[in-house]
Amino acid sequence: MTKPQNSTAIVVPIFVPGHAVAGALGQMQRAVSQGADWIELRCDEANRQTMGEALRAGRRLRLPMIVTLRSVAEGGRFAGSDDELAQAVELAAQLGAEWVDVEFARWQRSLSLRQRVLAVCQQVERGTGPGLILSAHDFGGRPADLRERIVAMAHQQRTATIIKLAWKAASVVDAVEALELIEDTRRRFAMPLVPLAMGEFGQISRLLAAKFRAPFTFATLAGDAGSAPGQPSVQDLRTTFRWQAQRPGTAVCGVVGWPVGHSLSPAIHNAGFGATGFGGVYVPLPVAPAYEDFAGAVDALRACAGLHLRGLSVTIPHKENALRFVRERGGAIDPLSAHIGAINTIVFDADGLLRGFNSDYSGALDALLAAMTDRPGPIWAGKPDQSGTLALAGVRVGVLGAGGAARAIVAALANAGATTVIYNRTLPKAQALAAEFDGHTGKVVAAAFDRLCLSCCQVYINCTPVGMHPHEADCPVSETNPPAFGPDVVVFDTIYNPLETRLLKLARAQGARVIPGLEMFVRQAGLQFREFTGQAAPLDLFRAVALAALKAR
Ligand code: NAP
Repeated sequence: MTKPQNSTAIVVPIFVPGHAVAGALGQMQRAVSQGADWIELRCDEANRQTMGEALRAGRRLRLPMIVTLRSVAEGGRFAGSDDELAQAVELAAQLGAEWVDVEFARWQRSLSLRQRVLAVCQQVERGTGPGLILSAHDFGGRPADLRERIVAMAHQQRTATIIKLAWKAASVVDAVEALELIEDTRRRFAMPLVPLAMGEFGQISRLLAAKFRAPFTFATLAGDAGSAPGQPSVQDLRTTFRWQAQRPGTAVCGVVGWPVGHSLSPAIHNAGFGATGFGGVYVPLPVAPAYEDFAGAVDALRACAGLHLRGLSVTIPHKENALRFVRERGGAIDPLSAHIGAINTIVFDADGLLRGFNSDYSGALDALLAAMTDRPGPIWAGKPDQSGTLALAGVRVGVLGAGGAARAIVAALANAGATTVIYNRTLPKAQALAAEFDGHTGKVVAAAFDRLCLSCCQVYINCTPVGMHPHEADCPVSETNPPAFGPDVVVFDTIYNPLETRLLKLARAQGARVIPGLEMFVRQAGLQFREFTGQAAPLDLFRAVALAALKAR
């Protein structure tokens, strides 16, 4: 039989129905082709015949198998007696299953079940019986007696081979605890633990299972729903989250936001880590909007020594929270980011110090300068306040919008010596923003949005969401009476979905040079990458991965 491996197995759950087992057999084949290491046959509703067929098919495919009959009380559909469960365990053992899953609650309350399961599992030592997974599931949240449960389950050590605990995570903090418990249980009881913090908040308990050397984690087949909330697909684990490259010392980076499921950052940074040979993995970290949630999550991540937290990207709605957090923890923030009042990057240095900065403004300016000078590479090379002043001195820039993105870009333009006009629907907001940054090397004034048609800037930057998916038909400027978009004009749209907005199409048609929002996104990510890894970002790879991900949506 297959003992717990050093490398963490990816297990695909497959539901075996009470009749017509063909679908389950097809899923087994897909599991093999998609790279599953083991399968879990969920036999909650299977009869002896379908269970037998599924087990024999698994044998033919040489897939190690867990057999599970999950009870209704623990989120499954098995409503049978302890005797029926024992019979299923005996059949699984006879037909060569490597593992049987028995819920700890049943195990504790039924002596006869224990005796019958022990009878088959004790053959493990003779190399013929299955290993025992003792499991417990809480869909309501973290059980108050989580740690006591582990002790109680570990005391069944004589027979239990793996402990599995699943609970609904209320925050990233639960997922961090799940990961810490793996090493804790190994050290205290010499027992392998599979802790699954379920739901979106718990995702890293699955994505980082290989780094923390859990015996296995569950994953879905491409396009399938899986057996519990928050399960990634096999392909996600293997391709995006660098499953094979995860080691105990692997550095962890991530993106904190709410929501973060749509973020392109994990795909591009992980691809970059792979291409540059950096020993890291980059994960999504969903954190609820309040400052307390942000601070609680980042403190928990920092405190987890086994995580080797290296850096965080920060997105909406946490950019102001991140600045406050770095300040309150005594970290360093560059002056322009501090003036903007929002950061999108935190770096955790080896000496325990934090650094925060805003790569949105430098990424945007980098994209603009590259287009204006026809230089493809990063011009600012991660030091945004040391160059650029001359490059934009005397350049007139029209910024559309006065929200968060506009604020970072106006700060950068003013700092780089440009003359900036902020056009905004709500004029007082544009005036307030202009007043804040006017005289910061460059000049900044405000104007009503409807004055845009009279404008004659050399650069226009759209910082409104007008034209963003799913409203691709919208355009922030009048299409019948647009500003003068001639060949000497650069039009930059910060929106990257769609790749080319209606505004950019209009500008291109009039001969202007255009900068898609993806360029800003890729360059701001490149500056983060450099700080996380100490290496230059492979920007072409970032572009290609981001483009592919956007096209696949
Ligand atoms: P925000 O803080 O909500 O600000 C939105 C701004 O757009 C406000 O000034 C708002 O005007 C204006 N606006 C909204 N709807 C409008 C409409 N129908 N007509 C005219 N003006 C309108 O948003 P944000 O965080 O700055 O984000 C803005 C855009 O930047 C988003 O599309 C986002 O995709 C993009 N962005 C891109 C990147 C990148 O890396 N490429 C990074 C960050 C942001 P009022 O003041 O009148 O409400």
